[in-house]
Amino acid sequence: MSKKTNNSDTYDYVIVGSGFGGSVSALRLSEKGYKVLVIEKGRWYKNEDDFPKTSWDLRKYLWLPSLGWKGLMKISQFAHVGILSGIGVGGGSLVYASTLPIPNDKFYNSGSWKNLANWKEELTPYYDLAYKMLGAKKVDYEGEADKVWKTLVKDLGKEAKYERTKVGVFMGEPGTEVDDPYFDGEGPRRKGCIYCASCSIGCRHNAKNSLDKNYLYLAQNLGCEIMADSLVTAVNPLDKNGASGYEITYRNTYSRIGKRKKVRANGVIFSGGVLGTVELLLEMKHKNILPKLSKRLGMFIRTNSESLLTVTNLNGTKSFTDGVQIGSIIHTDENTHIEPNTLGTGNGFARIITFPILAFGKNLPIRIWQHFIEFAKAPIDFFKAFLVNDFGRHTIVLLFMQTLEGTMSFKKKTFGRGMKSVLGKGEKPKAFIPFAKEIAHKIEHIIDGKAGQQVLQTVFGSASTAHILGGCCMGETSDEGVIDRDNKVFGYHNMYVFDGSMISSNPGVNPSLSITAIAEHGMSKIPFKKDSIEQKMTGSNDLSNEKFSRHIN
Ligand SMILES: Cc1cc2nc3c(=O)[nH]c(=O)nc-3n(C[C@H](O)[C@H](O)[C@H](O)COP(=O)(O)OP(=O)(O)OC[C@H]3O[C@@H](n4cnc5c(N)ncnc54)[C@H](O)[C@@H]3O)c2cc1C
Repeated sequence: MSKKTNNSDTYDYVIVGSGFGGSVSALRLSEKGYKVLVIEKGRWYKNEDDFPKTSWDLRKYLWLPSLGWKGLMKISQFAHVGILSGIGVGGGSLVYASTLPIPNDKFYNSGSWKNLANWKEELTPYYDLAYKMLGAKKVDYEGEADKVWKTLVKDLGKEAKYERTKVGVFMGEPGTEVDDPYFDGEGPRRKGCIYCASCSIGCRHNAKNSLDKNYLYLAQNLGCEIMADSLVTAVNPLDKNGASGYEITYRNTYSRIGKRKKVRANGVIFSGGVLGTVELLLEMKHKNILPKLSKRLGMFIRTNSESLLTVTNLNGTKSFTDGVQIGSIIHTDENTHIEPNTLGTGNGFARIITFPILAFGKNLPIRIWQHFIEFAKAPIDFFKAFLVNDFGRHTIVLLFMQTLEGTMSFKKKTFGRGMKSVLGKGEKPKAFIPFAKEIAHKIEHIIDGKAGQQVLQTVFGSASTAHILGGCCMGETSDEGVIDRDNKVFGYHNMYVFDGSMISSNPGVNPSLSITAIAEHGMSKIPFKKDSIEQKMTGSNDLSNEKFSRHIN
């Protein structure tokens, strides 16, 4: 042990990032008697005033530390994909719409993990556990956007395929605070949802079941330490394969010149989400610090084959300001799922990254030409949509997702830090899906609206996603994947990946429930700390699912 490190700087596990995978890990490892530290680069949202009031409060909404904006929403543009992701203690749960669908069977039977287990059978109990922990419940409140979806489903002749979503939101008496309703009083006090339709700017009303209200809160009760505003910059094994442990280097997120600090741990969990984990591991491989990482690192990056399109009501007669953010889902066929997303009143930031015209041409000149044509067809509608008062109030975002395959890779940039996207030989994530356009036009008719798409999508012709996945996929051996079926990194001792980068095929629907369930599954394979009180009490390291969690019932 180096002179600089004393016992208080030494942990059984350090977890890098506090999103879904990181939070599950924090609680389960703490329950098993381990000393755990979570290091999170973003802020900790403890009071309602820490959240932005609207998405125009850019300092609190957007993540752009170089401008002093330390918000919870990060927008990253690569050559082939534009990505929305969440930052802060709780990761993407701070901004997510809390919709928790179960994927169809194709998810379990495709991609690099398909032959490693009977995944459907093995994961079913963990999906149930994830539902319980995230407090998923079917939405009973019907908002205006849900009514639009009901009309849409009739138009499509698919009434049987309409469902209310299950969401991780506390639907008690609106605005009324009560004792913890989920964990037999061990969790925090909560308030009933007031249905303001603004989940994705962070819940100021203590109603969304973000991870700081469940997994992380319970982990802290068990002694887990959480350090916010701290960016992990390196993970060095203390010997060839980490059998003697790791030294983790971090710094204040907002100060590049600040002093680097170090802690040691017997094990490391990478949970920085695709953008955090893949970038850090690529950097470590490139610098020869973790040379044994699989050559598959950064490969099989997927979206949900999504299309994110807006439809804005033109005459101010339709408002989408009530309900949860995503209250409905339609499964138009086995592979296609569409959801309405509300933005909530005042949340008009999306207006400046959106253009109220659909242009799906295959290259930039064609898309520019399409803009002229579409504009010429309906110039007044264009201006009405562009200048509408309160864009958030009058706009629905169409979230269109498919189970179809399409992958690319992230590689380390040739110069400097960071990653670039690279296309392989196979199908790439689709930027423009004609059926999504068709649906957007139907919604235009229903709400007397005008459809639009993101400006960067027009410029780059890139896919856009809030569900970036893959990069550290599972495989039988390190030739086939970065991690094994229990999330252990090939080539290194006690090193794991638990986050969206472990997802090894396309779930085709919002992925957080699957990330949580797969993390629960992987965590169930890690034994209790030897000689811990918990191990002595159960007398076993072989945990059945029931013994595993005090919170399962
Ligand atoms: C607007 C929006 C709405 C969404 N709605 C839904 C929805 O309704 N349902 C659904 O299932 N999914 C939804 N998602 C997607 C969901 O948020 C992500 O799939 C999920 O959060 C990914 O979880 P994760 O475990 O991979 O890590 P993340 O949640 O991405 O968390 C990773 C964390 O690690 C931190 N980190 C990264 N690198 C480092 C580092 N080097 N050092 C320290 N910390 C680091 C990050 O700051 C972040 O907080 C939505 C996403 C967005 C952006």
